[in-house]
Amino acid sequence: MRAEIICVGSELLLGDIADTNTQYLAQRLAALGIDLHFSTSVGDNLERLLDCLRRAMGRSDLILTTGGLGPTDDDLTREAIAALLHETPVVNEKLADELRRFFELRRMEMTPNNLKQASLIPSARAIPNRRGTAPGWCISTGTRHIIAMPGPPGELHRMWEEEIEPRLRRDAVIRSRTLKLFDISESRVDVLLKTLTPAANPTVAVYAKQDGIYVRITAKARNDEAAWTSIASIETQVRDILGGFIWGSDEETQESVIAALLRSHGLTLALGETITGGRLSALLTAVPGNEGWFLGSLIPVAHVHPLTAPALAEQVEELFKPDIALGVCGIRLAGEEPEMDEITIAIRDRRTGATRTTSHRMRRDRVRTLGAYYALHELRRPLD
Ligand code: ATP
Repeated sequence: MRAEIICVGSELLLGDIADTNTQYLAQRLAALGIDLHFSTSVGDNLERLLDCLRRAMGRSDLILTTGGLGPTDDDLTREAIAALLHETPVVNEKLADELRRFFELRRMEMTPNNLKQASLIPSARAIPNRRGTAPGWCISTGTRHIIAMPGPPGELHRMWEEEIEPRLRRDAVIRSRTLKLFDISESRVDVLLKTLTPAANPTVAVYAKQDGIYVRITAKARNDEAAWTSIASIETQVRDILGGFIWGSDEETQESVIAALLRSHGLTLALGETITGGRLSALLTAVPGNEGWFLGSLIPVAHVHPLTAPALAEQVEELFKPDIALGVCGIRLAGEEPEMDEITIAIRDRRTGATRTTSHRMRRDRVRTLGAYYALHELRRPLD
């Protein structure tokens, strides 16, 4: 089944709101194994909306619209569908009664234009809206299915999950596994995986993210078991090629992986950071249950307390008495374009008294975030 989404609303085209409805529906369709081929945003304009619907009828089996079901003159989705199918909307008395009750219950005045929301064309079935006043419309023309849903995300999600998704035919399932890497570039990963990336199923895609490079393996199959089996065989190949760079998968974050490692080794951590300005502390303290292993952090201002990373790690050790004390400091490099910093990460192990120091260069505008992730990377390596 080929699906297409049309989001209606001039505010989308003015950049006033981000189109989260498409993101939501795209994820839901993917999980159902339904291929989404097109998505369009269109303003509150009858001609242009009708044009989008006509094109969709020519190329898609399942056409999903969101928005434009309100009571005002610029809510035009019903009118456009009616024009597309050469039908006339009429007020449905049962829907009108439900609408009146909705307003009575809330002691709100129902203005005459609200009745528009109780209208239907002969070929449409109303889809209940348990969170708002506008019912959806569902129309099947034999080979084509049009489903019109409200724009407000809360109304859309409930309608989709309770009324629409359970009734959709599932062709297949689509499942994904994401492997997460650090300290390697996107282009290098791409080159190393060049034998795997052209495949159509499972697909292998490479993305650059703040906390490293992600390799996503996606399989479409007749059921869960078949999808995970085909993902597993590709995952083994990716791990053989890139194993040394992989630090986690799926929902894991670098900080959650470190938390699990510290817990399993029964170790405590404290840190000091200048150049990352608290970013590292923020990441680690956001991990649930951090009080079991995180003892505290110092965030001195570098120009007031000019410290080296090993000296900062020593101060941290003295103050918090952790098993592992980490210090992150940096210097600004002069005359580089773009502006660059060099960060130094020192990791002191109180049990051995040894300090390991590493340095990395990076763009100044990325140093707080990337520096924090490099510190997590250095912290994780000896614990793996
Ligand atoms: P209403 O009855 O509230 O008028 P509607 O179905 O006519 O509902 P719109 O008027 O098009 O929907 O949109 C109402 C609100 O829903 C928008 O102001 C916006 O906040 C949200 N919304 C609409 N479309 C989207 C979208 N694609 N992504 C995210 N939010 C959206």
